[in-house]
Amino acid sequence: MRYLKLAELYESLSETAKRLEKTEILSEFLKELSESDRDVLYLLMGDIYPEYNEKKIGISSQLAIKAISKATGTEKGKVVKEWKSIGDLGKVAEKLTKNKKQATLTGSKNLTTEKVLENLRKLPELEGKGAVDKKISLITELLTSASPVEALYLVRTLIGDLRIGIQESTVREAMASAFFKGEKESALKVQDAINKSNDLAEVFDTARTGKEKDLGKIKIEVGKPIKAMLAQKSKTIKEGFEAVGKPCAIEYKYDGFRLIIHKRGNEILLFTRTLENVSRQFPEVADCIKKYVKGDSFILDSEAVGFDKKTKEYKPFQSISQRIKRKYDIEKLQNELPVEVNIFDILYYNGKSMLDEPFKKRTELVKKIIESHPYRIIHSKQIITDDEKKAEAFYRSALKDNQEGVMMKNLEAPYSPGRRVGNMVKIKPEEKDLDLIITGGEYGTGKRSGWISSFILSCRDGDKFLEIGKVGTGFKEKKEEGISFEELTEKIKPLITEEKGKSVKIKPKIIVSVTYQEIQKSPTYSSGFALRFPRFTALRPDKPLSETNSLKEIEKDFENQKRNWKYG
Ligand code: ATP
Repeated sequence: MRYLKLAELYESLSETAKRLEKTEILSEFLKELSESDRDVLYLLMGDIYPEYNEKKIGISSQLAIKAISKATGTEKGKVVKEWKSIGDLGKVAEKLTKNKKQATLTGSKNLTTEKVLENLRKLPELEGKGAVDKKISLITELLTSASPVEALYLVRTLIGDLRIGIQESTVREAMASAFFKGEKESALKVQDAINKSNDLAEVFDTARTGKEKDLGKIKIEVGKPIKAMLAQKSKTIKEGFEAVGKPCAIEYKYDGFRLIIHKRGNEILLFTRTLENVSRQFPEVADCIKKYVKGDSFILDSEAVGFDKKTKEYKPFQSISQRIKRKYDIEKLQNELPVEVNIFDILYYNGKSMLDEPFKKRTELVKKIIESHPYRIIHSKQIITDDEKKAEAFYRSALKDNQEGVMMKNLEAPYSPGRRVGNMVKIKPEEKDLDLIITGGEYGTGKRSGWISSFILSCRDGDKFLEIGKVGTGFKEKKEEGISFEELTEKIKPLITEEKGKSVKIKPKIIVSVTYQEIQKSPTYSSGFALRFPRFTALRPDKPLSETNSLKEIEKDFENQKRNWKYG
């Protein structure tokens, strides 16, 4: 397919902010795609492979600048100057390509989506000496064949900032309307298929045949990451029982991070909630699974929790979060920050999907196949009861053991990957904290010059991120003391999309937990709210963007806060 067609689609999608219009435009486009165009679905999400594949484009703005300079015959300094004034590197590429085409009177060549994918897929393969030059020439090759609008979207794809406001949910709705009746039911079936496979092209393959029933044939597979099932909130044990029914299972809500464990023969694979493969980072978990869990092939759902080696006390999530991203000193870290794996569910066992089995049966199977070894691997602490007093006592013991609270689970419920379901609820003490995303920042002055020392926080609103405040406290001056300005600045630098004076805008990628004293109405920020005294508490590399707190949730917290003033 001609890349121009895709670039024009991006353009029309970016011209409307209305979700329904976006869905219609996309739906028309999908109808025209042929079987062999399936991989265009990845490009549509700004990707080159399915979401879970670790091979990402990963090109920094600096490298893209070099390629634009080369392809358009513009001095690098001028490209940077244009970037500072326009702010959007894609627009810079568009403008400079237009200038060049006018000057040389050359038309664009027939750039195809196949060629774009071919070159982009070579990028993550390149490593070591000469890699940068090879990357630049692969990109330059594409840019020299591109028309201005193609250059615009090529560059935005390269730096991972498409700005077309498309999310997985938009593609879901568009597929449902293109190939089925577009009813809510069909959209749910498409979403289920996406949640199981995490591969939009695979779902497209099936959807385009128009056989809705076949969507159900898309199955989970051992070795392929799956989105975890999420919980809703209840305020009290009593409310929890109302939500999930009596009797129910009540388990510790461990304060660690989600780990989905796959076993296939002798191979063990570990995935986080963001579908990241962390098998290398936790070799001791693989050992435990091999030794203490019976079965040839399975997928287990669990929470890994840190504990103090000497006192055996559980530690909060922040203290072990560094293990998730760590690529070196793995053994040292494993010794210093050991984890216990708490298994609480099973999705697949010995060749059979367990998703549709009731929780009661799944939890029994977990108990049967795991040999518990405290501080290594255990079945999550659980009681099954209909007695509120017993449930309250269990909740108190979870808090005493330094855990976050409890989960209450309906015994008959199936496992729904990727869904936030009402038949599993979490209960924990009321806290004023939010998970927000960093969308910008400001370089500091004096002893903090060179570092970004104030970070703009945003909440989620559908496909957009809206600003809600700035945070500059809770960070450390020195790396050894915790998350420092320097460390966060290093993380942010490759994500910068716009730079003006001391201010930068960045790709929404980094989620942080912050505490605050109060939510206030405010005209300063696009969300309409501001946080009083926000304080950074932790990086949340374990959370996907979709788990950033939403504007609706913040409005609700604001209303609750008002109610507490009145009656508190
Ligand atoms: P929070 O922000 O309250 O920590 P969350 O946003 O991380 O919650 P939720 O779906 O709201 O995620 O809460 C469920 C999370 O709790 C799961 O993702 C899992 O990581 C963790 N968890 C701990 N213990 C359990 C358990 N026994 N059963 C299910 N999930 C558990």
